[in-house]
Amino acid sequence: MSGAVTKGAAIYEGKAKTIYATSRPDLLIQYFKDDATAFNGKKKGIIQNKGICNNAISSHIFGLLEKEGVKTHFVSKLSHREMLVKKVEIIPIEVVMRNVVAGSLSTRMGIPEGEQIKEPVMELYYKSDPLGDPMINRYHIRAFNLATDEEVRFIEKESFRINKWLLSFFDKIGIRLVDYKLEYGRSPEGVLLADEISPDGCRLWDKATGEKMDKDRFRRDLGMLTEVYEEMTRRTLAAT
Ligand code: 5GP
Repeated sequence: MSGAVTKGAAIYEGKAKTIYATSRPDLLIQYFKDDATAFNGKKKGIIQNKGICNNAISSHIFGLLEKEGVKTHFVSKLSHREMLVKKVEIIPIEVVMRNVVAGSLSTRMGIPEGEQIKEPVMELYYKSDPLGDPMINRYHIRAFNLATDEEVRFIEKESFRINKWLLSFFDKIGIRLVDYKLEYGRSPEGVLLADEISPDGCRLWDKATGEKMDKDRFRRDLGMLTEVYEEMTRRTLAAT
């Protein structure tokens, strides 16, 4: 399928990825950059080789999720930095799944980072850079037509299913899956898991040492950025 596809013009320049058209109207190329941003774009930097790591990690995880019956936009990994994906219309809702208290949940609830949550917490945010992704709920989604009730029901159910699988996957590679963000898109095949699953959008803590193995190292100036992304890539690709 991917053999005949050629790369077209850049159609969207994101913070960490560029999206290209292809010779196929139903397919796009996600190009993973080394650019890193945090705090809604206020902090900017480069993490050498991050794009290569995120493409490898995301491609591997999407491939495994597909085998579990999760429908994703992933088609194939084309090169170190390029992923062939199905064209989707991104639903403007960011789903955050949480298994351990950290980040904005710690601030909101006044609970220290690291406390295990007794059952997974799902949060919904309106995907809007100018607004800084505010938290929303089902009533906002319905009132402002962000998604249909059927889409929301599907996204919620799918996110809990994905969480169960990801928890066990990361556990096997010595990682505590703290929290992460998922995005979905509409396609002719229905709603697909889209975007990426990588240390850019996940909190991943080493089970043995508690070391942060994700973009919090950049957000919090902890150093060892490339080393940690490369270590996560090594562990992820070794697991099935
Ligand atoms: P928090 O709400 O604590 O800032 O983030 C919760 C989780 O969702 C973290 O793992 C964080 O990386 C991820 N997340 C939330 N919003 C975004 C976003 O806009 N971009 C990325 N890359 N990750 C996000």
